[in-house]
Amino acid sequence: MDAPRHYDLVVIGGGPGGYVGAIRAAQLGMKTACVERDRLGGVCLNWGCIPSKALLHDAETYASAVTHGASWGLNFDGASMDWAALVERSRALTGTLGGGVGHLLKKNGVDHVEGHARITSGRTPHTPCTIEIRRPEGDYYDGTGGETTATLTTERVLIATGASPRPLPGTPFDGTVVLSSREAMVLPSRPGAMVIVGAGAIGMEFASFYNAFGTSVTVVEMEDQILPAEDDDVSKLAGRLFSARGIDCRTEATVTSIERRDGGATVTIAPASGDGEGTTLDVDVVLVAIGVQARTAAICDEGLALVVAHGHIVTDARTAETPTYATSVPGLHAIGDAIGPPWLAHVASEEAVTCVERLAGHVTMGVDYRAIPACTYTSPQVASIGLTEREAREQGLDLVVGTYPLRSHGKALAVAAESGLVKIVATKPHGEILGAHIIGEDASEMIAEMSLAIRLEATIEDVISTMHAHPTMAEAIHEAALAVEGRVIHG
Ligand code: FAD
Repeated sequence: MDAPRHYDLVVIGGGPGGYVGAIRAAQLGMKTACVERDRLGGVCLNWGCIPSKALLHDAETYASAVTHGASWGLNFDGASMDWAALVERSRALTGTLGGGVGHLLKKNGVDHVEGHARITSGRTPHTPCTIEIRRPEGDYYDGTGGETTATLTTERVLIATGASPRPLPGTPFDGTVVLSSREAMVLPSRPGAMVIVGAGAIGMEFASFYNAFGTSVTVVEMEDQILPAEDDDVSKLAGRLFSARGIDCRTEATVTSIERRDGGATVTIAPASGDGEGTTLDVDVVLVAIGVQARTAAICDEGLALVVAHGHIVTDARTAETPTYATSVPGLHAIGDAIGPPWLAHVASEEAVTCVERLAGHVTMGVDYRAIPACTYTSPQVASIGLTEREAREQGLDLVVGTYPLRSHGKALAVAAESGLVKIVATKPHGEILGAHIIGEDASEMIAEMSLAIRLEATIEDVISTMHAHPTMAEAIHEAALAVEGRVIHG
């Protein structure tokens, strides 16, 4: 084995948190290594954001053609899909993008180190941190076995090890019947029937995808509505629209047992309250999408006492005024999915940039946790930022709210996407925007305007006086702002 290599920063994990942090650190002049035990790009590029959006794009195109083609004057009689080709396209993308990340690291002078990183010592005033690299054996390497291939020493460590899907208590994933999102993305054939546990973004995206291709989908959600983190008006409308598409949404319900049988499972669904009888469903697969837990196995010697609580690494992210994402161990910082919700790629990247800029002594604005855009790429899409109306009322704020349904919106009608709404929550007396909530075509693109508005502390009047191109979906934001003042033009 070669002599230990020394770095200013070693980043553990090559996902959107890790590789972005490593590149930014190198740009700031730090000698940086990025250690990845699996594929560069992390969950986002390999098993999350990008491949899922490829699948959803194909599903939406297919469903639109088959469902609406005739009414648009287009004939798609005999339209069919090639499951294997569809999955293959999404997998091919991951290879291309992973290669691109490798190129970006190289271009910025970051050393890409392959293997599992285990931190064996934190920093003291006299010694740097030490990291042992082992060649992993498989994706879910537990840190045991394998051979030590390198030792790195470093002034600081950025832990960006992400998170993995959380199983239902007592029911581990088996990869063929009880699935995590990873397996649900590469099934060898389309299942006839499935239960999805959890109606958050990931659960509903898979529901949208499989329903589009004819799978009988039942979604089970403990809360009283699907997409429970969204504004009530959006969740309710989403529930109606997905039910109308044939997705069976069972809210205030829970899965009490999954009995595996040949080629599938019998799932018992019961009221979440515990009162009342359960019903059973025979399905081919069960997708469990109830959240994630930090990947902390074997990243740190136990003697270092890295504090992990509620399934994530504890940092100063929410407690310090200008957090450096410091953990309980001197010299170790952590960001992204590993430090808890919101589990989003853009949050991981921004936390990483903030962390390394602050370590480099820069004054940086940092992450505003009150204004994080979140998107669900179902059909129709859902996107939101900031406070829901309910949250704002619970805080006792004096509110003004404007809602604009898309049913009379020109662009929405032109693209046959008139189901949806835009809602803006603002505060009196100046109309400062606190939150925006969209369900409809291009919602994930439209939300960017509201992100900027909230970052700039813009008011309703600022949005009203901003010209929006016609015809665009973004005009619906303008109308929602007008609705706040009772001045809607098209509606
Ligand atoms: P990860 O992407 O998980 O990367 C961590 C990396 O660290 C992994 O590559 C892992 O192999 C590596 N690693 C772990 N331990 C070690 C070790 N000890 N040594 C070396 N390497 C190690 N987010 C969005 O913003 N938008 C979306 O549309 C979206 N869609 C999603 C869809 C699905 C199905 C899923 C599952 C997730 C989705 N997400 C989405 C969430 C997003 O993927 C994550 O928030 C994001 O990947 C987190 O980035 P990260 O860098 O913190 O961790």
